[in-house]
Amino acid sequence: MDFELTVEQQMFKDMAKEFAIREVQPFVKQWDRDCHTPPEIYKKMGDLGFLGIKAPEEYGGLDLDWMTVGMVTEQMAYYDLQLAMSSFSRVSLGMLPLIQSGSDEQKKKYLPGLIQGVKTHCFGTVEPNAGSDATAIETTAILDGEDYVLNGNKTWITNACHSDFAMVVCQTDKTKGTKGLAVLVVDWGTPGFTRAPIENKLAFRHHDHGQLFFRDCRVPKDNQLGGFGIHFGMRAAFSNVEHTRYGIAIAAVGAIKSCLDLTVNYCKERVQFKRPIASFQMVQDKIADMVIAHEASQLLAYKLGYLKDKNVDVTKESSVAKYHNMLMLKRTAADAVELHGAYGLSDEYPVERIYRDCMAPFIYGGTAHVHKLVLGRLETGINAVAR
Ligand SMILES: Cc1cc2nc3c(=O)[nH]c(=O)nc-3n(C[C@H](O)[C@H](O)[C@H](O)COP(=O)(O)OP(=O)(O)OC[C@H]3O[C@@H](n4cnc5c(N)ncnc54)[C@H](O)[C@@H]3O)c2cc1C
Repeated sequence: MDFELTVEQQMFKDMAKEFAIREVQPFVKQWDRDCHTPPEIYKKMGDLGFLGIKAPEEYGGLDLDWMTVGMVTEQMAYYDLQLAMSSFSRVSLGMLPLIQSGSDEQKKKYLPGLIQGVKTHCFGTVEPNAGSDATAIETTAILDGEDYVLNGNKTWITNACHSDFAMVVCQTDKTKGTKGLAVLVVDWGTPGFTRAPIENKLAFRHHDHGQLFFRDCRVPKDNQLGGFGIHFGMRAAFSNVEHTRYGIAIAAVGAIKSCLDLTVNYCKERVQFKRPIASFQMVQDKIADMVIAHEASQLLAYKLGYLKDKNVDVTKESSVAKYHNMLMLKRTAADAVELHGAYGLSDEYPVERIYRDCMAPFIYGGTAHVHKLVLGRLETGINAVAR
């Protein structure tokens, strides 16, 4: 396995670091206090090509590889886990379902704006009664003439309130079970489509999460994305979740390194018992744990990126990397706060935000339990949650 970066990958890595230092680091504390990300930041990322790395050239993309997306995500996450994940999810949840399953009209309508960072998607799978069990979708889409009539609620949807369009997973025929599931693209402004923000969150405060409501919302049947059923036409749309796991795993690497560097600097400066606290063995023990967490997580994430670029099945590697790296980030962030003492509880110190923020991608992209179930199924051949 060769992790040596190509000239292009190194260039994007450097550009992302420079961009994050200039455009993110000085402002992120205030964004988090205000619970608001300025939308222009996505236009700036679009101008640098960050959002179009995996998109086809004919729509304004660069048609590059996963490692390049990973390099940008890792660098951004060092300064802000939220922005790293929101830019990655624009690629995985925003564009890939359209690229893989969209019609020519759908691609022409949505991809250029997404690539330029001037249009925003949301992807609605989860509902109040369908979380880890995405097959329990209750939102219905009943065909009536040339339209589907959509009814149901989605919750905890990223970009819910700022999106220009929603991709909505719905049940078209309950008697068919998961084979009746479909994805409809619904433009904001369609009658019967409303939304509401989720406020006062523990994590990802400056990012938009909310609920989507559909009440007798008529959606032209041409707005269907791909075919029906998880294992058939809709598979491509669902595969974005696996891509998101790579984004989470590589973002965790950047955030772990940030915790490590911030903690080492703080511990070398902070003096107690007339010595820098970095000189105490129990402090160094925790710093050593952080170094190991970073090295191991980086290897897993880079391996995953490398394999994704070989187009092989990475179900196992995605679950291993997502599970491991988020566990390591959660532990590292907690240790970082602990080693900052009381100051670790103040948002003047970035470890406070990382400690809270890591809980968001710890839960989405599949919880830790879900990834253990995936790995258990792959090893034993037994699906523990089969109905
Ligand atoms: C910040 C954020 C952004 C999100 N963005 C999106 C989005 O854009 N689109 C979208 O569709 N969804 C989104 N989600 C929702 C996310 O996908 C769900 O939160 C996640 O799938 C878990 O579902 P749940 O919250 O309903 O928890 P539940 O499924 O109710 O799980 C609760 C607990 O029970 C455990 N559990 C459940 N089943 C089992 C089992 N069989 N065995 C053992 N333990 C089990 C879980 O691991 C968890 O610990 C987002 C969530 C967050 C936090």
